This record gives sequence, structure tokens and C-alpha cells, in this order.
Amino acid sequence: MAEQQYDVGAVPKGIDRQKFIDDWVRSSEELIAECPTKYEHPTSYKIAKDLAVSIRQTGGRILRSAPEWPTIATLPTGRVNAMTVRVPGSAAKAILFESSFFTFANLLSKAVAAAMPYADRGDGDYLSFSSDPENIKRRISSEPGVAERFFQAVAAYARFGDPSRAPQYALGWPHSHLAPVFRESMELFVLGHEYGHVIAGHLDPQSTPDIPAEGDFAADELEYSWRQEIVADHFGSVLSVAAMSSDGYDAALSASGGDLFFSAMDVMDRAVSLLRYGDESAQKLGSHPPATMRREMLRRGWSEYMDEAQAQSAVALADSVQVATGLLWERARKRLVDQYGPGSGVDTSWR
Ligand SMILES: [Zn+2]
Repeated sequence: MAEQQYDVGAVPKGIDRQKFIDDWVRSSEELIAECPTKYEHPTSYKIAKDLAVSIRQTGGRILRSAPEWPTIATLPTGRVNAMTVRVPGSAAKAILFESSFFTFANLLSKAVAAAMPYADRGDGDYLSFSSDPENIKRRISSEPGVAERFFQAVAAYARFGDPSRAPQYALGWPHSHLAPVFRESMELFVLGHEYGHVIAGHLDPQSTPDIPAEGDFAADELEYSWRQEIVADHFGSVLSVAAMSSDGYDAALSASGGDLFFSAMDVMDRAVSLLRYGDESAQKLGSHPPATMRREMLRRGWSEYMDEAQAQSAVALADSVQVATGLLWERARKRLVDQYGPGSGVDTSWR
């Protein structure tokens, strides 16, 4: 087979090429050296660590007493998620991120951002997007590439357990400015949710039974009741909104990540179930509460800690994110059926 070459970026002009390559190799080695175990995914671990700095600082600022910060790690869990575990026989806690979570969060944020219609307000001062569902519907219909990118990310994740196998692409302006905001909001929400379990004491011995260590895996996931999930969602929302607001983002954008995360889980539940059993509702991954319940509770929380105008704006944006992911999923479902067929199989890592 003929050799194929891939450009992964240009060497900047005016610098020493060998020095550039040496620096790049050194920074990659440093990234790997920072990982606490050889099982970490180095890039995911770096992202998780940076998010941890943000949530930890925010917790220190807004909580009356912040509990001890848990260890952060990445590993393939077969869930679109993170999980918090208590190391048996010890008070130590760890937040484990699914290795592919950040890649999927990035691709999903790009696809959903691309579905949001740009609204030129004419004053040139702000970059604005429309949250009108009709405009979103029109954009998804008129730009077939948007739904196709979403389908590719979902298909790669479901079939291979690896969203990075979706074709790479660069998002054009102005959507390239919206996607990172969605992504960061979602990532901070997920970490804030997990830390929320720690804050609420869900992992304390009196709250959960001791789970003995088995084999090499010295920690096991603790099952939480739906009520505990809702409480953790609330902490996730408060912490992520506070973290992003201190960086200057408005309340609605800061709060959008929770809804996007519920959509991410819902879409992957459906995609995996469709490809595994031929029925998108046959199986749910994990034991989390339904997305509709979590969305509803998230919105109630906003009305408690945001002012009325902020809460309304947050609901409008979250609703439009939900509309966008719903429309994108309808098209992705059809593509999955047409291209692979229902029941055609998924990666074995999916639980
Ligand atoms: Zn949870």
C-alpha cells in the first residue's frame, strides 16, 4: 500500500526546526512524566489536572469548608463519564475520568456549537448566537456537514470506544469561539459533580457500605442513589458556574455544560443500545437518573442561586442546546442504521 502522509501542524517560520522538534518531544515526555501511573492517558490527565485546579480553587473560595481534594486519574471505564471511588480500607478518594471523555466532550461541543446559528447584532462588539429553536432547525437542515460531524463522533465512540477515530476537522469562525466555552463548561460540570459527591459525604463510610478490594483493581465504583446524583449535579452546577463566571463568562454560557453533558450521556446510551440490540431504548449505560429528570432539577437549582434574568437566559440556552442535540441525534440515528445497521455491534469496552 502506498505510504500516506498526514500534516499535524506547521513548523512556525523563523525558528530552528530541530529545536522546535526537540522542544515538542521534551514537552511530551514531561507530560507523560507527570502522570501518576502508567495507565494514564497523558493528554486527558493534563486536562483533568487543569480542571482540578479550577474547581479546587473555586471550592476553596465559595465553600464554608472544602473537603480534602481527591486524587485525579484517567482510565478506560466504558462510560461517558467520570466516577468517584473510595479506596477500600482507607479514607482516600479518587476521581477517575474515562480516558476518552475529553475527546468526546471536544467533538460533541464542536458539533453542537456548529449547529448554533450566528446572530449578527450589527454592533460589532459581541459575538452572538441565536437560541431560537427554529433557527437551529434551519441551520442543521441547510448545513448537512454539521450533523455528519456529530454522527462521525458518535459512531467512532460507539463502534471503536475511541472518538478520536472520527475524521479530524477545524471548526470555522465564529463557531470556533463557542465550542471551547461549551466544552469547558461541560468538563467543569463533570468534575464539579464528582467533587460534589465528596462534599456531600456520599463516600463516607457511614453513607456507603465498604467494598472489598478485588484483584488488581483496588477500588470499586460505589452505586449512588438518584437522589445523591441530583445533589452532586447541584454542586457541579454551582462550582462550574462560579469557576467560569470568575473568568468573565455570563451565567447562561457557564451553565450550559450540565445540559450538554446529559445530552452526551443520553446520545451514547441510545447509540450503543441501537448498535448493540437494534433498539435505542433497550439498555442504559450505568445507573444514572434519566436525563429529563436531571435537566429539570438543574433548572430548578438555577432559579435558586441566579437572579431571575440570569436564570431565564440559562434556561433558554440550555433548552436550545437540548433542541440541537435532539435534532442531531435524529439524523445520527438514521445514519447509524443506514451505514452499519441496527444490532451491528459496538466496542466491547461499553458496559
Ligand atoms: Zn455521580
